[in-house]
This record gives sequence, C-alpha cells and structure tokens, in this order.
Amino acid sequence: MNAYGDGDSGRVHRTNRVEAIRVVWPDDLNRRSSLLEGLDRQSDVVWMCELGVEQALRPAGPPVHKQRVALVLASMRHLHRELAESAVALCYHAMDGTNGGASWQEALEADIARLLPRRVLATKPGDIRVEEELRSLCSRLSVQLEVQPDAHFFSGPEDFAAFMEGRTSPFMEAFYRRQRRGFGVLMTESGKPVGGSWNYDKANRRAFPREGPGELPPQPSFPRDRITAEAIALTERLFSDHPGDGASFDLPVIPEQAREGLQDFVERRLHRFGDVQDAMWTGEPFLYHSRLSGPLNLKLLDPREAVSAAETAYRDGAAPLNAAEGFVRQLLGWREFVRGVYFHYMPDYARANALGAWEGLPWLYWSGETGMRCLREVVAGLRHHGYAHHIQRLMVAGLFALLYGVEPSEFNAWHLAMYIDAYDWVSVPNTMGMTLHADGGLVGTKPYCASGKYIARMSNYCRHCRFDSQQSSGEEACPFTTLYWSFLSRHAERFSNNRRMQFQIKNLRRKSDEAMRAIRERENEVRRRAQTGTL
Ligand code: SF4
Repeated sequence: MNAYGDGDSGRVHRTNRVEAIRVVWPDDLNRRSSLLEGLDRQSDVVWMCELGVEQALRPAGPPVHKQRVALVLASMRHLHRELAESAVALCYHAMDGTNGGASWQEALEADIARLLPRRVLATKPGDIRVEEELRSLCSRLSVQLEVQPDAHFFSGPEDFAAFMEGRTSPFMEAFYRRQRRGFGVLMTESGKPVGGSWNYDKANRRAFPREGPGELPPQPSFPRDRITAEAIALTERLFSDHPGDGASFDLPVIPEQAREGLQDFVERRLHRFGDVQDAMWTGEPFLYHSRLSGPLNLKLLDPREAVSAAETAYRDGAAPLNAAEGFVRQLLGWREFVRGVYFHYMPDYARANALGAWEGLPWLYWSGETGMRCLREVVAGLRHHGYAHHIQRLMVAGLFALLYGVEPSEFNAWHLAMYIDAYDWVSVPNTMGMTLHADGGLVGTKPYCASGKYIARMSNYCRHCRFDSQQSSGEEACPFTTLYWSFLSRHAERFSNNRRMQFQIKNLRRKSDEAMRAIRERENEVRRRAQTGTL
C-alpha cells in the first residue's frame, strides 16, 4: 500500500510501543478536535486514509463529482503536511492509482496488526456505517476503541436525545429556539430574541426585480498551491469519466482560507443575503450566498466563528437582522437539527419511503440535458462548481424529484455524489426528509410541493424556457406544473387531514375530470420523455 509525502507509514519507527492510533476521517479536518489536541507526540500515531474517499473507488456507487474528490484530497493533504511539519508520527495512505479497490478498513487492520496500539481513537464519524465498521474491526482485533464526541458542532446526539424527551416528533423551530437560548445567540440580556421575533423567514423570500440582481460582489477565489494542484491533477487522471470539471476548482482547502471566505461573505454579501436568500437568477449560482457549507462540513471552519461573525455584523449595524438571523438559523438551527435527526432516527431513516416513490432518477440529473431551463441551469452549476444554493436544491432539483416520485435513496446517492458539501449526516435528512418527505413528515410537516409557478415567481428561468409554467396540460405545459397536480392527486387522501395542505387540496378538488384527464395524458408524455432523455 503506498503512502503520500514524507509523513508516510515508514516514519513510524518506534522502539516504545504505540499507545494510540488516532483516526482522522477525511471529513474531520478540524485542527482543534480533541483527537488532535490530546495527541501525545511521543506515543501516538495519527492515521489518515484517502482510499475509498467519498465512494470514489467503490464500483457500486455513483460516480463522484471531480471537485468533491479533489477538495477532500487537497484538504487532507494540507493537514497531513501541517502534522508532518510539526513532527507528528503519521500513517497516511494515499490514493495514487495503484491501490484501486483497497479500502480504509484493510489499511487500518494492517496498521493495527503492525503497530499493535493499545487503543484506537476516532471522532464520531458522520456516517453511522463507518462507526459500525470501525467498532466491528476493533472488536475483531481485540483493540480498545474510543469514539469521541465531535466538538465541531454546537450540540451532539445526546443533546438532541434530551430535546426529544417527551416529544413524538422533532420540531425544528423548537430546537432552534433551544439552541439560541442555550448558546446565547442573538438574545437580549433579558433572555428574549433580539428584535422581538425568533424567526425572520418571511423576510427572506423576496425575488429580484425584473431587471435582475444588478452588479454582484465578486466571489472569493483561492489560488492553488502545489498540493492542491496535485490533488486536482490526480483526480482528473483517476476519475476522468466522473462528472464535473476540476479546471474551475477554486475552493478553500485550509482553515485560513475558509476564514477568509467567511470574512468576505460577512463584509460583502451578508447585508443583502437576508432579503433574497430564496431568489434565483440565470447564470448566477452564488448570488449573496456564503458558499461556506463545503469548508464547514469538512470542519475547516468553526461554526461558532461563523455565527459569531454574523451576530457581530448585526450588532455593529453592518447587516440587518433578517440577514444575520437567516444565516444563524441555517448554522445553529437547521444544520444542527438535521444532524440530530440523523443520529436519532438512523438506520431506519435511510430506508424510509413514506410516499411509495419508486421511479429511477432521470439521466438529466447527471447530464443537465433538458429543455427545462430551471433544471438545466441548476445541473450546469452543479457540474461546474459542485454547488447549488438551498432553494435551487430544494425547489428545483429536489422539487422535480419529489413530484416525479424518484426513489429516495437513489436521489440521496445522487446528492452525495454531486455536491461538494454532502456527507451522510447532512444529506440523508435533507434529501429524504425535507426534500422528498420520505420520512412521512418528521422534519417537515408537509412536503415542499409546488408547481412551476413558484419557480416563475422566484427566478427568471421561465422567461427563457420552452415550457409555460402556467400550463398544466398540452404540449407546452411545464413538467413541474403537470406533475404537481398529479402528485397532489396521488397523495390527496394522505394529505387531506394535513392542515397546512388544505389550500392545495381544495384547489385540486376544483379541477374538473376533463382537466385531470388532460393532466394525466401530459404526465405520461413527461415521464416517457424523462425516461428517454428527451424532456
Ligand atoms: Fe422550469 Fe417550468 Fe419554468 Fe421551464 S417553465 S423553467 S420547466 S418551472
């Protein structure tokens, strides 16, 4: 098995016994983790492994976006260099093209057999299967295992379990208020939310005027050093047939760059983010979004710093409350909430399919080749950057999958493969729960179903589309609008008692038999075209 750079397994020549192998996962690059801070340089070995990173080498998994692979490799290799420069003993297993098919489990087993550590330490992984595999491996090899809490997050699975006591289902708003109170974020001295309200969601939904967003602040771009350039070149060489484009890679790969990205967001975009965070515009994938989910989920950026920077901007008068609160809600609220849901409800959660959705994912999700301008735009941005902002994900890519009835785990696998910031803990609840309602309403009390009219209202995509968002049947009907009515009709009984769906169900009941017949006819055509790649 090959190793990378000068910190390879060959450096571990010890006469004294290795006390602990400290496993640093590919998505756990937090320099301040208890795993690295508690390191004993005399007796411990830090263990890192690129093999099988992000399913890239798993033949059964969908092909992973090149920028996703390159980002993880470059970020891991930068941490490796830092540790090597500070004389930490390292076992580093690099992906180099000669070890295709080898797994982290095989590499770790061989190193445990060779180094005979007293203990194996790891931060709690963000994928329950990884933790199960680690536990089983250590048990089989009779080596003591300590799985440490992940200090990157404000709260952990045990806090979420405490929150859930006495509840039959999780409720994001209650969790969010608990987090705000518990961590004293955007609170007054008397314990009330600043501004008098907890949530300014309704002040986050403005669309751009007809002429568009105007001049946007430039996106920060992080120059490649030798390590990053090598990681990109390696990815291009090993995964040339994977989606995405390594050439446009400009992502932060070390904590200093991630902090620069945060500062840039707070200074240049946060003040406008609040009003238009749900808006979309052709050719503008980033708008006023922070684009920090990648470095956050690799733990290059501490969410406390990000939350604190947004709160400070508000208190200094540099950002309005709806912007600061919207950003805080994403990090302190939603991000922590979905992680809590993940650990509380897995493994059953990943098998949920409450709406009985069994359709395959249309090929257009990979190729972007479709006449639907909105989806073409989102997939093009994804292929180019491995990124789409939350409304593009939820109300374009996710909405079509919901209405079409894509099998939830297949949609999740696509999400994991295509987005640079997706990991199991964050992807499963977001795709299967929030987006596809496969959990039957645990994370959202109603499905986020809408017709093409929503997209027409929140973007200019429909102006450049060959379909008509207002029409539900006929040749020019918008596939979203057609499928919206058929979705409602398929699930009318299930949602007839859902208070939040009453308006939509009532409108469905107003449709004549003739109108519904025409919609079904058009639906058949939409499905046929989606399956044959001609939609
Ligand atoms: Fe998308 Fe329909 Fe609008 Fe076309 S008309 S951009 S398919 S929502």
